[in-house]
Amino acid sequence: MNADADENSPALTSGGFVMGKDGMAALVDMLVRHGFTVVGPTVRDGAIVLAELRSADELPYGWGVELEAGRYRLRERPDGAAFANSAGPQSWKPFLHPSRVREWNADRVDGELVLTADQDTPGRYAFLGVRPCDLRAIAIQDRVLTGGAYRDPVYEGRRTGALLIAVECTEPGATCFCVSMGAGPAAGPGYDLVMTEVVDEDGHRFFVRSGSREGAEILAGLPARPADPYTRRTADAAVTAAADRMGRTMPETDLRELMAATLDAPRWDDAAGRCLTCGNCTMVCPTCFCTTTEDVTDLTGDHAERWRLWDSCFDLDFSHLHGGPVRASARSRYRQWMTHKLGTWYDQFGSSGCVGCGRCIVWCPVGIDITEEAAALHDWTQSGATQESGP
Ligand code: SF4
Ligand code: SF4
Repeated sequence: MNADADENSPALTSGGFVMGKDGMAALVDMLVRHGFTVVGPTVRDGAIVLAELRSADELPYGWGVELEAGRYRLRERPDGAAFANSAGPQSWKPFLHPSRVREWNADRVDGELVLTADQDTPGRYAFLGVRPCDLRAIAIQDRVLTGGAYRDPVYEGRRTGALLIAVECTEPGATCFCVSMGAGPAAGPGYDLVMTEVVDEDGHRFFVRSGSREGAEILAGLPARPADPYTRRTADAAVTAAADRMGRTMPETDLRELMAATLDAPRWDDAAGRCLTCGNCTMVCPTCFCTTTEDVTDLTGDHAERWRLWDSCFDLDFSHLHGGPVRASARSRYRQWMTHKLGTWYDQFGSSGCVGCGRCIVWCPVGIDITEEAAALHDWTQSGATQESGP
């Protein structure tokens, strides 16, 4: 969307605007009226999930979260903030790269096979509350799914025209490490609008800037006033403070080189001893993109369908070639996942595959922590054991 950015637009070049909760309500109303499918955070089933919103009243005003390895809890917030919480169980991946897509179906009609290709027509999304780490993750998936020789039509159809409204992080979770991955807590490029939520004695408000012509046009239609210096400074200070309060950090080393240098480290056996190979980490990860294909028929044999489903490198079938899986052990599968995220992703796509959202830590049923594993591997290289381990 920000390809349309016009640097001469007044709203783009200004120092930003401030709006209250009425502005947030007007924003959602305007987007719904203009036919967008508005998706944003809301409280459901004991978590802050991403779901279609019909009004801003559904935002998680007054809810925060407590995160730890293998643990997620909601907690009430006396300040009534809507976005003072960190990444929930979903990213935007299920909306842009759905877990199940029917590609075609076929029927036997009068002895003839009739094939029908399925068309994905989801309408236009407006994503409200995109965290900086997830904004980076969307950019990574753009590169993976539309930036090469083979463009994924489902992703491209959903991503083209999607309006991205980012919200900068002021309340990092205990499992967040976006600073280590250079992905937050301030928003990078790619948004149409970006907001920072401020709640203090001067009231509950949002410091809003635009990043595209469409974002500027939307902002111009909202009940917002030019940002006062105090709100701007307070918002900037909150984001800076969030960077200083990250729950986790990655070891300060070249992670790509670390992964390449530790393929034989004993730590992989340790991780494999705890890993259930359930694949949760790949499902919640906003950048994991692998899929498999499944053909199904009904009992009559007159109807068949081809589905594309999310897959995981933790699944034994994922690396099945003739004769068996290439990665038969939990050690090899965990190592494949982590070394791809932090190392070989650079070779394939020119960046890290991890944005530091911490979801894989929170939603791992046994609390395996990618930052702890990386630190243990780093310690191993510092101990001099690499020379003794051989090839
Ligand atoms: S690291 Fe955790 S979430 Fe990932 S496959 Fe292993 S047990 Fe499951
Ligand atoms: S590897 Fe973990 S922390 Fe990194 S982007 Fe994926 S889910 Fe987030």
